[in-house]
Amino acid sequence: MMFSQIHTTRRLLFGAGSAALLCACGRAHVKGAAAAPPRTASASPGASPGASRGTSPTPSAAAPTPTPSATPSATPSAPPAPSAAPTVPPGTAGAAAGRAAYAVHAGPKVVALTFDDGPSPLDTPRVLALLREHGVTATFFMIGKNVARYPDTARQVIEAGHLVGNHTWSHPDLGTLAKAGVRKEIERTSQTIADVCGVRPVLFRAPGGHFTRNSYAVCADLGLRSICWNVDPEDWSNPGSGAIASRVLGATRTGSIVLNHDGCLTDALITAPGGVADRSQTVDALRAYLPKLLEAGYRFTVPDNP
Ligand SMILES: [Zn+2]
Repeated sequence: MMFSQIHTTRRLLFGAGSAALLCACGRAHVKGAAAAPPRTASASPGASPGASRGTSPTPSAAAPTPTPSATPSATPSAPPAPSAAPTVPPGTAGAAAGRAAYAVHAGPKVVALTFDDGPSPLDTPRVLALLREHGVTATFFMIGKNVARYPDTARQVIEAGHLVGNHTWSHPDLGTLAKAGVRKEIERTSQTIADVCGVRPVLFRAPGGHFTRNSYAVCADLGLRSICWNVDPEDWSNPGSGAIASRVLGATRTGSIVLNHDGCLTDALITAPGGVADRSQTVDALRAYLPKLLEAGYRFTVPDNP
Protein backbone atom coordinates (compact mmCIF):
# COMPACT_ATOMS: atom_id res chain seq x y z
CA MET A 1 0.00 0.00 0.00
CA MET A 2 2.90 2.33 0.48
CA PHE A 3 4.63 4.09 -2.31
CA SER A 4 8.34 4.40 -2.32
CA GLN A 5 9.79 7.82 -1.91
CA ILE A 6 10.78 9.73 -4.97
CA HIS A 7 13.78 11.93 -4.52
CA THR A 8 14.80 12.74 -8.02
CA THR A 9 12.59 15.68 -8.79
CA ARG A 10 11.38 18.38 -6.56
CA ARG A 11 8.61 19.99 -8.52
CA LEU A 12 5.43 18.04 -8.35
CA LEU A 13 1.85 18.13 -9.28
CA PHE A 14 -0.43 15.58 -7.83
CA GLY A 15 -3.37 13.73 -9.24
CA ALA A 16 -6.01 15.93 -10.77
CA GLY A 17 -8.74 14.02 -9.05
CA SER A 18 -7.71 15.38 -5.69
CA ALA A 19 -6.78 18.88 -6.78
CA ALA A 20 -9.82 20.53 -5.27
CA LEU A 21 -8.79 19.55 -1.78
CA LEU A 22 -5.12 20.14 -2.12
CA CYS A 23 -3.05 22.23 0.14
CA ALA A 24 -5.65 24.58 1.43
CA CYS A 25 -5.28 24.45 5.16
CA GLY A 26 -5.55 28.16 4.91
CA ARG A 27 -9.29 27.88 4.46
CA ALA A 28 -10.18 29.46 1.15
CA HIS A 29 -9.33 27.53 -1.96
CA VAL A 30 -9.51 30.64 -4.10
CA LYS A 31 -6.04 31.60 -5.14
CA GLY A 32 -6.98 35.20 -5.81
CA ALA A 33 -7.56 35.65 -2.13
CA ALA A 34 -3.87 35.29 -1.51
CA ALA A 35 -3.18 38.79 -2.72
CA ALA A 36 -4.59 40.40 0.38
CA PRO A 37 -2.37 40.92 3.41
CA PRO A 38 -2.99 38.97 6.56
CA ARG A 39 -5.46 40.35 9.03
CA THR A 40 -3.59 38.93 11.90
CA ALA A 41 -0.73 41.39 11.72
CA SER A 42 -0.46 43.21 14.99
CA ALA A 43 3.17 43.77 15.72
CA SER A 44 6.49 43.76 14.07
CA PRO A 45 8.74 40.99 15.26
CA GLY A 46 11.43 43.57 15.77
CA ALA A 47 9.31 45.76 17.98
CA SER A 48 10.23 44.27 21.30
CA PRO A 49 13.79 44.98 22.36
CA GLY A 50 15.84 43.01 24.76
CA ALA A 51 14.43 39.61 24.09
CA SER A 52 16.99 36.92 24.01
CA ARG A 53 17.65 34.84 21.01
CA GLY A 54 16.42 31.41 21.70
CA THR A 55 15.37 28.14 20.34
CA SER A 56 12.55 25.96 21.33
CA PRO A 57 12.05 25.02 24.90
CA THR A 58 11.04 21.48 25.50
CA PRO A 59 7.53 20.68 24.37
CA SER A 60 6.38 20.50 27.95
CA ALA A 61 7.21 24.16 28.39
CA ALA A 62 4.29 25.17 26.24
CA ALA A 63 1.15 26.34 27.91
CA PRO A 64 -1.16 27.33 25.10
CA THR A 65 -4.41 29.04 25.65
CA PRO A 66 -6.91 29.28 22.87
CA THR A 67 -8.00 32.58 21.62
CA PRO A 68 -11.26 32.58 19.76
CA SER A 69 -11.18 33.18 16.10
CA ALA A 70 -12.66 36.47 15.09
CA THR A 71 -14.83 35.30 12.26
CA PRO A 72 -14.60 32.78 9.47
CA SER A 73 -14.67 35.69 7.08
CA ALA A 74 -13.61 35.75 3.49
CA THR A 75 -10.47 37.63 4.40
CA PRO A 76 -7.54 35.45 3.43
CA SER A 77 -5.50 35.25 6.56
CA ALA A 78 -8.01 35.35 9.34
CA PRO A 79 -8.06 32.06 11.19
CA PRO A 80 -11.19 30.08 10.60
CA ALA A 81 -13.74 29.88 13.33
CA PRO A 82 -15.08 26.57 14.51
CA SER A 83 -18.11 25.47 12.61
CA ALA A 84 -21.12 24.35 14.56
CA ALA A 85 -19.06 24.45 17.70
CA PRO A 86 -19.44 26.29 20.96
CA THR A 87 -18.04 29.77 21.14
CA VAL A 88 -14.75 30.03 22.93
CA PRO A 89 -14.65 32.78 25.52
CA PRO A 90 -11.57 34.99 25.24
CA GLY A 91 -8.78 33.81 27.44
CA THR A 92 -10.28 30.43 28.08
CA ALA A 93 -7.50 28.05 28.88
CA GLY A 94 -6.99 24.82 27.09
CA ALA A 95 -8.30 23.27 23.95
CA ALA A 96 -10.45 20.57 25.35
CA ALA A 97 -13.45 19.04 23.70
CA GLY A 98 -15.52 21.60 21.90
CA ARG A 99 -12.94 24.21 21.13
CA ALA A 100 -9.64 24.69 19.40
CA ALA A 101 -6.56 26.62 20.45
CA TYR A 102 -5.67 29.56 18.25
CA ALA A 103 -2.62 30.71 20.17
CA VAL A 104 0.04 29.56 22.58
CA HIS A 105 0.60 31.21 25.93
CA ALA A 106 4.10 30.19 26.86
CA GLY A 107 5.61 33.54 27.71
CA PRO A 108 6.66 36.74 26.00
CA LYS A 109 7.70 36.35 22.39
CA VAL A 110 7.09 32.62 22.39
CA VAL A 111 5.35 31.40 19.24
CA ALA A 112 4.68 28.10 17.47
CA LEU A 113 5.53 27.15 13.92
CA THR A 114 3.26 24.56 12.35
CA PHE A 115 3.52 22.73 9.03
CA ASP A 116 0.50 21.03 7.49
CA ASP A 117 -0.25 18.49 4.76
CA GLY A 118 3.04 16.61 4.82
CA PRO A 119 5.08 14.62 4.99
CA SER A 120 6.60 15.24 1.57
CA PRO A 121 9.85 13.54 0.63
CA LEU A 122 10.79 16.67 -1.28
CA ASP A 123 10.09 19.65 0.90
CA THR A 124 9.80 18.22 4.41
CA PRO A 125 13.53 17.42 4.59
CA ARG A 126 14.33 20.95 3.46
CA VAL A 127 12.13 22.35 6.20
CA LEU A 128 13.78 20.03 8.71
CA ALA A 129 17.22 21.20 7.63
CA LEU A 130 16.32 24.84 8.18
CA LEU A 131 14.76 24.12 11.56
CA ARG A 132 17.84 22.16 12.56
CA GLU A 133 20.13 24.94 11.36
CA HIS A 134 18.35 27.40 13.64
CA GLY A 135 17.66 25.02 16.51
CA VAL A 136 13.90 25.44 16.24
CA THR A 137 11.26 22.86 17.13
CA ALA A 138 7.98 22.83 15.22
CA THR A 139 4.76 20.88 14.89
CA PHE A 140 3.87 18.91 11.76
CA PHE A 141 0.19 18.12 11.19
CA MET A 142 0.42 15.18 8.83
CA ILE A 143 -2.08 13.72 6.41
CA GLY A 144 -2.46 10.02 7.15
CA LYS A 145 -2.24 9.02 3.50
CA ASN A 146 1.06 10.83 3.20
CA VAL A 147 2.44 9.18 6.31
CA ALA A 148 1.61 5.80 4.76
CA ARG A 149 3.23 6.79 1.47
CA TYR A 150 6.31 8.41 2.95
CA PRO A 151 7.00 6.67 6.26
CA ASP A 152 10.71 7.41 6.14
CA THR A 153 10.04 11.11 5.87
CA ALA A 154 7.52 10.95 8.70
CA ARG A 155 10.10 9.25 10.88
CA GLN A 156 12.66 11.92 10.01
CA VAL A 157 10.34 14.49 11.54
CA ILE A 158 10.00 12.56 14.79
CA GLU A 159 13.69 11.73 14.93
CA ALA A 160 14.51 15.42 14.56
CA GLY A 161 12.57 16.07 17.75
CA HIS A 162 9.51 17.72 16.31
CA LEU A 163 5.92 17.09 17.27
CA VAL A 164 3.62 15.23 14.88
CA GLY A 165 -0.10 15.94 14.84
CA ASN A 166 -3.11 14.38 13.14
CA HIS A 167 -4.48 16.17 10.05
CA THR A 168 -6.99 13.48 8.95
CA TRP A 169 -6.46 10.62 6.55
CA SER A 170 -7.54 12.24 3.29
CA HIS A 171 -7.96 15.95 4.08
CA PRO A 172 -11.72 16.19 3.64
CA ASP A 173 -13.98 19.02 4.67
CA LEU A 174 -15.13 17.54 7.96
CA GLY A 175 -18.37 19.45 7.69
CA THR A 176 -19.40 17.06 4.94
CA LEU A 177 -18.95 13.93 7.05
CA ALA A 178 -21.11 12.22 9.63
CA LYS A 179 -19.50 11.45 12.97
CA ALA A 180 -18.56 7.94 11.90
CA GLY A 181 -16.74 9.31 8.89
CA VAL A 182 -14.90 11.87 10.96
CA ARG A 183 -13.88 9.18 13.42
CA LYS A 184 -12.58 6.98 10.63
CA GLU A 185 -10.48 9.83 9.20
CA ILE A 186 -8.96 10.64 12.55
CA GLU A 187 -8.57 7.16 14.02
CA ARG A 188 -6.88 5.74 10.94
CA THR A 189 -4.42 8.60 10.88
CA SER A 190 -3.51 8.33 14.54
CA GLN A 191 -2.98 4.60 14.19
CA THR A 192 -0.82 5.04 11.10
CA ILE A 193 1.30 7.69 12.77
CA ALA A 194 1.67 5.44 15.80
CA ASP A 195 2.65 2.48 13.62
CA VAL A 196 5.11 4.47 11.51
CA CYS A 197 6.56 6.89 14.04
CA GLY A 198 6.10 5.01 17.27
CA VAL A 199 4.33 7.97 18.78
CA ARG A 200 0.58 8.46 18.95
CA PRO A 201 -0.37 12.06 18.21
CA VAL A 202 -2.00 14.19 20.87
CA LEU A 203 -2.86 17.13 18.62
CA PHE A 204 -5.40 17.44 15.83
CA ARG A 205 -5.92 20.07 13.16
CA ALA A 206 -8.96 19.98 10.90
CA PRO A 207 -8.41 20.53 7.18
CA GLY A 208 -8.98 24.18 6.46
CA GLY A 209 -9.33 24.77 10.19
CA HIS A 210 -12.89 23.52 9.80
CA PHE A 211 -13.47 22.04 13.22
CA THR A 212 -16.96 20.70 13.81
CA ARG A 213 -19.00 19.33 16.67
CA ASN A 214 -18.25 15.88 15.35
CA SER A 215 -14.52 16.53 15.19
CA TYR A 216 -14.52 17.86 18.72
CA ALA A 217 -16.48 14.87 19.97
CA VAL A 218 -14.20 12.38 18.24
CA CYS A 219 -11.10 14.18 19.48
CA ALA A 220 -12.46 14.10 23.01
CA ASP A 221 -12.96 10.35 22.69
CA LEU A 222 -9.47 9.84 21.31
CA GLY A 223 -7.63 12.22 23.61
CA LEU A 224 -6.71 14.70 20.91
CA ARG A 225 -6.55 18.45 21.38
CA SER A 226 -7.67 20.68 18.52
CA ILE A 227 -5.14 23.24 17.37
CA CYS A 228 -5.85 25.99 14.87
CA TRP A 229 -3.68 29.00 13.99
CA ASN A 230 -3.77 32.78 14.00
CA VAL A 231 -1.12 33.62 11.41
CA ASP A 232 -1.81 32.39 7.91
CA PRO A 233 0.47 33.59 5.10
CA GLU A 234 -1.45 31.45 2.59
CA ASP A 235 1.75 29.85 1.44
CA TRP A 236 -0.26 27.03 -0.14
CA SER A 237 -1.35 29.45 -2.87
CA ASN A 238 2.26 30.18 -3.83
CA PRO A 239 2.06 33.97 -3.58
CA GLY A 240 5.86 34.27 -3.69
CA SER A 241 8.38 33.58 -0.96
CA GLY A 242 8.76 37.29 -0.27
CA ALA A 243 5.04 37.68 0.29
CA ILE A 244 4.94 34.66 2.58
CA ALA A 245 7.86 35.93 4.63
CA SER A 246 6.50 39.45 4.92
CA ARG A 247 3.09 38.18 5.95
CA VAL A 248 4.61 36.03 8.69
CA LEU A 249 6.91 38.79 9.89
CA GLY A 250 4.10 41.32 9.82
CA ALA A 251 1.63 39.19 11.71
CA THR A 252 3.70 37.28 14.25
CA ARG A 253 3.44 38.38 17.84
CA THR A 254 3.58 36.76 21.25
CA GLY A 255 1.48 33.62 21.21
CA SER A 256 1.20 33.29 17.47
CA ILE A 257 0.60 29.93 15.87
CA VAL A 258 1.96 30.25 12.35
CA LEU A 259 0.54 28.07 9.59
CA ASN A 260 2.84 26.77 6.87
CA HIS A 261 2.62 23.83 4.48
CA ASP A 262 5.39 21.32 3.82
CA GLY A 263 3.32 18.94 1.72
CA CYS A 264 0.11 18.30 -0.06
CA LEU A 265 -2.48 15.60 -0.41
CA THR A 266 -0.87 13.20 -2.83
CA ASP A 267 -2.41 10.70 -5.15
CA ALA A 268 0.28 10.67 -7.78
CA LEU A 269 3.58 12.37 -8.36
CA ILE A 270 3.92 14.41 -11.53
CA THR A 271 6.70 16.89 -12.07
CA ALA A 272 5.37 20.38 -12.44
CA PRO A 273 7.38 23.39 -11.27
CA GLY A 274 5.10 25.81 -9.54
CA GLY A 275 2.31 23.28 -9.28
CA VAL A 276 0.01 22.84 -6.36
CA ALA A 277 2.41 20.49 -4.60
CA ASP A 278 5.41 22.76 -4.93
CA ARG A 279 6.35 24.01 -1.47
CA SER A 280 9.63 25.63 -2.43
CA GLN A 281 8.16 29.08 -1.76
CA THR A 282 7.36 28.02 1.77
CA VAL A 283 10.90 26.73 2.22
CA ASP A 284 12.44 29.89 0.79
CA ALA A 285 10.21 32.04 2.97
CA LEU A 286 11.15 30.05 6.06
CA ARG A 287 14.81 30.56 5.22
CA ALA A 288 14.16 34.31 5.14
CA TYR A 289 11.83 34.86 8.07
CA LEU A 290 13.11 32.36 10.62
CA PRO A 291 16.44 34.12 11.31
CA LYS A 292 14.64 37.44 11.47
CA LEU A 293 12.22 36.18 14.08
CA LEU A 294 15.12 34.76 16.07
CA GLU A 295 17.05 38.00 15.79
CA ALA A 296 13.95 39.80 17.06
CA GLY A 297 14.00 37.61 20.16
CA TYR A 298 11.28 35.15 19.34
CA ARG A 299 11.45 31.63 20.70
CA PHE A 300 9.51 28.63 19.50
CA THR A 301 7.40 26.08 21.26
CA VAL A 302 4.87 23.44 20.37
CA PRO A 303 1.21 23.65 21.41
CA ASP A 304 1.08 20.36 23.27
CA ASN A 305 -0.16 21.41 26.68
CA PRO A 306 -3.73 22.31 27.61
ZN1 LIG B 1 -4.30 20.84 5.37
